[in-house]
Amino acid sequence: MPPLSFAEARALVIDKVRHSRRLPAVESVDLAAADGRVLAADVEADRDYPPLDRSVRDGFAVRAADVPGTLTVVGEVRAGERFSGVVKAGQAVEVMTGAPVPDGADAVVMVEHVRVAAGSVTVDQPVARGQNMSPRGGDAVTGGVVLRAGRLIGFPEVAVLATVGLSRVPVYRRPRVAVLATGDEILDIESKPLAHQIRDSNAWSLAVQVRRAGGEPVVLPTARDSAGETAHAIAAGLQADLLLISGGVSAGKYDLVESVLAELGAEFYFDRVRVQPGQPLVFGRAQGTFFFGLPGNPASTMVCFEVFARAAVELLGGWAQPRLPLTEAALTREFRHAPGLTRFLPAALSPDGSVVTPVAWSGSGDVMALARANAFLVAEPDKPVYAAGERIRVLMR
Ligand code: AMP
Ligand code: MG
Repeated sequence: MPPLSFAEARALVIDKVRHSRRLPAVESVDLAAADGRVLAADVEADRDYPPLDRSVRDGFAVRAADVPGTLTVVGEVRAGERFSGVVKAGQAVEVMTGAPVPDGADAVVMVEHVRVAAGSVTVDQPVARGQNMSPRGGDAVTGGVVLRAGRLIGFPEVAVLATVGLSRVPVYRRPRVAVLATGDEILDIESKPLAHQIRDSNAWSLAVQVRRAGGEPVVLPTARDSAGETAHAIAAGLQADLLLISGGVSAGKYDLVESVLAELGAEFYFDRVRVQPGQPLVFGRAQGTFFFGLPGNPASTMVCFEVFARAAVELLGGWAQPRLPLTEAALTREFRHAPGLTRFLPAALSPDGSVVTPVAWSGSGDVMALARANAFLVAEPDKPVYAAGERIRVLMR
């Protein structure tokens, strides 16, 4: 298989998962717990919004044809009230923001633009019909779709759900994502590793990444680099909705993940991508479950999750549109890299997002440098030199 570019590989992941995913089961949650969940049904307006013509200013409801002129004030209407009469020629009603515009009136003049005397109000400028009012049904009409299924719920969506009176919200179940670390040298974090051993960090960072993408991580015991143990662990992981394997996909003699997957009947969509870190990334499907073989270096695992696997978790969770939080910032200094690969390198993005500085690191195993950074700069494969001050893409995290 020829290696794919970053864009090709990401597009392929999205295409494969979108076209053969089974949407998760639906459950319902309290509105207060809906943040971060994915809406599982279209939501319709239960009535017109606004339900009546509504004033958006404190002022006077008038008939536009009467203005400019001096009008008789025949009443007042507060938010939460309705005016029982009708505004007739030569009349005005004082209205507050949020109050219904009385029948007969067709515009509101702001209180700042009138002169008030006992029992009357004088307007010196003409007003257009509809001015300073929000017409009935202008935001949504009864039965109209106000939120589509597949939408990630955040605070504005919660406001919409509250507005239409949904205290229980249909959401997709979180997809179960198996996380499998591999490697003879990998110990669990309670262990005291010998000099030739390391503690597992990937299963921990992946579990966080999965949760942030809306998935439910299921961390499996670390598999030793033997075909039998790897096969057993992978078979268990394929029971989940998605399997993430860390390590064992490079060209080493004990990188067994691909051969074990092949024996389990896997279909491989790619096994190399022109990105760094993460070139030997593997993506495929076995026994109906998509899997990623993520290269084990912590930076490779993190980056490959963010730019490839995350989209799969989101789609399997029912999201309509996976996201990739890219921005652009000016480099604080010149940056060079060898052309040919899209590079995602640890970087410090300024708090206002305007400038970015590469963070020194010793390579994709340098987990400490990743924690000194707060973003990844994205160096394009066909652009070896970026001048100081030049804009570069940045992947936020
Ligand atoms: P591999 O992809 O298995 O060749 O591993 C590449 C590098 O990543 C090696 O230096 C491993 O020790 C390291 N590594 C692999 N798995 C983990 C893990 N779960 N946590 C931390 N480092 C790991
Ligand atoms: Mg390994």
